[in-house]
Amino acid sequence: MAEPTRHQAAAFVRRGVLDVTDDELIGCVACGLCLPHCPTYRVTGFEVASPRGRIAAMRAVELDGAPLDDEFRDAMEGCVQCRGCEAACPSSVPFGHLMESARAALASAPAPRASTSTHRLRQIGEWLAYAVVLPRHSLLLALTWVLWLAQRLRLVPRRFGIPRLERSAMRTVLHADADPDVALFTGCVMDAWQRDVHHDALRVMRAAGASIGLGGPGADCCGALHVHAGRIDEARRLARRVIEAFPGDGDVVVDSAGCGAAMKDYGHLLGTPEAYAFAARVHDFSEWVVTSGVELPLHATGHAVVVQDPCHLRHVQRAHGAVRAVLAPAYDLVETADDGLCCGAGGAYAVLHADLANQIRDRKVAAIRDAALPGEPVVVASANPGCAMHLGAAGLTVRHPAQLLAAALDRSDSTGATPDA
Ligand code: SF4
Ligand code: SF4
Repeated sequence: MAEPTRHQAAAFVRRGVLDVTDDELIGCVACGLCLPHCPTYRVTGFEVASPRGRIAAMRAVELDGAPLDDEFRDAMEGCVQCRGCEAACPSSVPFGHLMESARAALASAPAPRASTSTHRLRQIGEWLAYAVVLPRHSLLLALTWVLWLAQRLRLVPRRFGIPRLERSAMRTVLHADADPDVALFTGCVMDAWQRDVHHDALRVMRAAGASIGLGGPGADCCGALHVHAGRIDEARRLARRVIEAFPGDGDVVVDSAGCGAAMKDYGHLLGTPEAYAFAARVHDFSEWVVTSGVELPLHATGHAVVVQDPCHLRHVQRAHGAVRAVLAPAYDLVETADDGLCCGAGGAYAVLHADLANQIRDRKVAAIRDAALPGEPVVVASANPGCAMHLGAAGLTVRHPAQLLAAALDRSDSTGATPDA
């Protein structure tokens, strides 16, 4: 009998640096079919910046005892976590969960040798953002007004990519209905910066005949950004809080693709029957409109929109078809030719890896402009606030499907409100 290879032998003697199973780790057969779907590989051409290269690095750490060094950190942190590779992989390698494990291991690993002071500053910044501000919604709202003022005083450099905050959106008040049969999850940053999208989502859902609640205390931060950053314990605390904020068994509608993907994964994150039951109640906004079976009172606007698929809607929730289904009665839908490649937003990626994020975005913007109809203004439909901000910072006009639908509601819709546009 042949001697087992080093990988095969190590698969039975787990070091446990990464919280993954043997099957997850050794499932990759290095076929390379994922490479064209990886935005960081497309931009750099480096194997280490590809899904295959990243999995090889994880194997080296987990199975061969390689250290969690700067090289490993760069390879993992350079990943946008778009999961385009996962959707393309014929071997069903669960890349998202592998990467989450790697990021969690790095979150508690020693600082990189080359830049200890920079790393320390970044750790402090991340602690303030993830542990102090995001879980405290009133603090986030207060800081948003400070940011708004700083923007008006021209104190916020454009290279930060923060969208121009609008007082009208920040002052929008959302009303819950009595005896709701469905709830809208409003989130943290989206509620602070893009509450006008929630307003339009509520309007469309009411036009579909729904009675809508807004969740109790704690129905704000879902922990998606924390999972991205490997802060799994904090993500679990936030997930438990969100589940408590939505008692009962009604649908929970989410109009942020990133948040919806994270909330649909609460079962895996918490591993409890309650978490799995809650995750089954979560629906993306467009998905919910389609499954409600109600024909919205829409008029054909005659306008074209270019559809951008947020990765967490397309590759994770696999609900991107619903966006097309709900918009098609009112808009001429235009597809890009890049097969849903990532735009480079990726949670905090656009802030932490601005150069690479901008190179990835350049390709996306080119694909969108190439697809747009000649002579028509370019309007992009995007169901994720992070993508909307990232693409908006490149000068594109981006609208959430809820905003586009609200603008196309007939005057006779059940809210009695007039169309916005
Ligand atoms: S992750 Fe999947 S598609 Fe990519 S190289 Fe491995 S087996 Fe092939
Ligand atoms: S998640 Fe996206 S960026 Fe990361 S390896 Fe996969 S395709 Fe590349």
